[in-house]
Amino acid sequence: MPRRKSASGKSAKPEPRFSGRLALITGANRGIGLAVARALAREGCNLIITGRDERALAKVHLELDKLNVDVLAQSCDVRSPESVDYLFTVVRGLRKPVDILINNAGIGHSNHAVSELPYPVWMEVIDTNLNGLFLMTQAALAVMKRGSTIVNNLSIAAERVFPGAAAYNASKYGALGFTNTLREELRPKGIRVIALMPGATDTAIWDAMWPEAPRRKMMSAETVARTVVDALLLPENTTVEKIVVMPSTGVL
Ligand code: NDP
Repeated sequence: MPRRKSASGKSAKPEPRFSGRLALITGANRGIGLAVARALAREGCNLIITGRDERALAKVHLELDKLNVDVLAQSCDVRSPESVDYLFTVVRGLRKPVDILINNAGIGHSNHAVSELPYPVWMEVIDTNLNGLFLMTQAALAVMKRGSTIVNNLSIAAERVFPGAAAYNASKYGALGFTNTLREELRPKGIRVIALMPGATDTAIWDAMWPEAPRRKMMSAETVARTVVDALLLPENTTVEKIVVMPSTGVL
């Protein structure tokens, strides 16, 4: 990180590395999305934060506002075309391009063999993790320019199966296919597309998926956020296409 020298010759605070840039993060009111929002705001990035829970969103808004960046908090359900449309009406009102899109919103489900998996659970997971990813990305492309980056938070479950997690696996495998196609479509337009594939991370998602999971063996959301910031800081003509970040403790 570059350090400025003050008049006294002492090292001054490092320059924020995302000053003047704008990031839109879905599912930013807790978990990994919140950790990414905090990490980017600390680096001077202006934010649009979303999620369904308005109270949680308002609390996060208050917190991030103290970091001297512009923060717009707008509730949005990524499953709903109307809700996504409304979000982008608000975004267009800012009259600024979105430099970074973090498609992070996602849900898990309790462990069920396919023979027992209720159809509404299947639908909700696919709707959120796959259809929501499509809706958000398609809408965001209209406000993104050459030099911007899309990060899709998938999971190692986009490449590795977990018996009992068929809907989650199917949504994430599908999301990886979507992400890989998107990357090739956007390459000539100078927009980078990164598949973020974390292993077990200590967030509320485990409450439904595996309540007894050994949380202390998991990564922190902050660690995952660091990998995102590092990838976003690469020169514009360079990208990591896939970030696989895993706890070294063998939790899964
Ligand atoms: P959390 O449950 O802590 O966060 C999920 C976030 O997604 C919340 O902010 C939630 O807000 C939002 N969200 C859920 N459904 C919707 C919706 N329909 N519309 C808009 N926002 C929604 O879990 P994580 O932070 O762990 O999950 C974030 C992402 O990371 C997910 O995509 C998950 O699959 C992925 N991931 C997580 C791993 C882990 O071990 N934790 C590992 C690998 C990937 P609200 O409920 O208010 O809408």
